[in-house]
Amino acid sequence: MEELTPISPRNSEASIARLDNVSFLHSGDRGIMQATLAVDRNSVLILLGPNGSGKSTILNLVAGFLTPQSGTVEVLNQRMNSSLRRHLGILFQESSLDPLMTINETLSLHGKLFGMTNKDIRERTEILLNLTGLKDRRREEIETLSGGLKRRLELARTVFHNPKLILLDEPTLGLDPEAKSAIWSTLTEINSTGSTLIVATNDVSEAERYGQTIVFLEKGRIVTQGTPYELKR
Ligand code: ADP
Ligand code: MG
Repeated sequence: MEELTPISPRNSEASIARLDNVSFLHSGDRGIMQATLAVDRNSVLILLGPNGSGKSTILNLVAGFLTPQSGTVEVLNQRMNSSLRRHLGILFQESSLDPLMTINETLSLHGKLFGMTNKDIRERTEILLNLTGLKDRRREEIETLSGGLKRRLELARTVFHNPKLILLDEPTLGLDPEAKSAIWSTLTEINSTGSTLIVATNDVSEAERYGQTIVFLEKGRIVTQGTPYELKR
């Protein structure tokens, strides 16, 4: 993989993504105001806040789906550009699975879209079906899966091409405690293999338990940020 050229020397090796004084207002003048944050490499950063506080807007800015109206967003020390896409894994808030495809088909289509070889696709499929516990169901159509298993499949697809930075928008929303903990054990494992995670949630206990950094949002503003320990004090 080619080296990425830093565009600005102040960006240390430590952060994989940064927002500098970023604002983005949707129609209706709600969105994100003057957000500044840095995401440490190999960390788990949690965007915590109630509905409408701006979590998805921040994720969409980092993903490059939205362009800031002021301020700058950098990922891997670069402004958004098409070559960054393969370093990003994105799990949307809304499910985006095709109910008539099987688990195998879903993953291999994703691998092809990312230009992976058939061999890599086969190997990665085995690893991720084991990690997510979906192996026995691999030939089944998605419409036969429970909500928790669908979310696990989306997670497997999100990380399939081995992205450096993974954006997850409410990955456990609506799941029961068992399904939540299955998602988090997979996320923890993925984080330990060197991927950085940015996770949006409105679940405080989840944030405290799994976040290394918590960024607390309210009405489009970052209210406070720090480690769970710092925020508790
Ligand atoms: P969260 O993900 O924390 O629920 P969002 O980032 O989706 O919050 O939304 C932040 C604010 O921006 C909310 O007030 C929301 O209503 C508004 N908003 C989000 N998307 C749009 C949109 N496409 N058009 C207009 N307003 C939007
Ligand atoms: Mg949202």
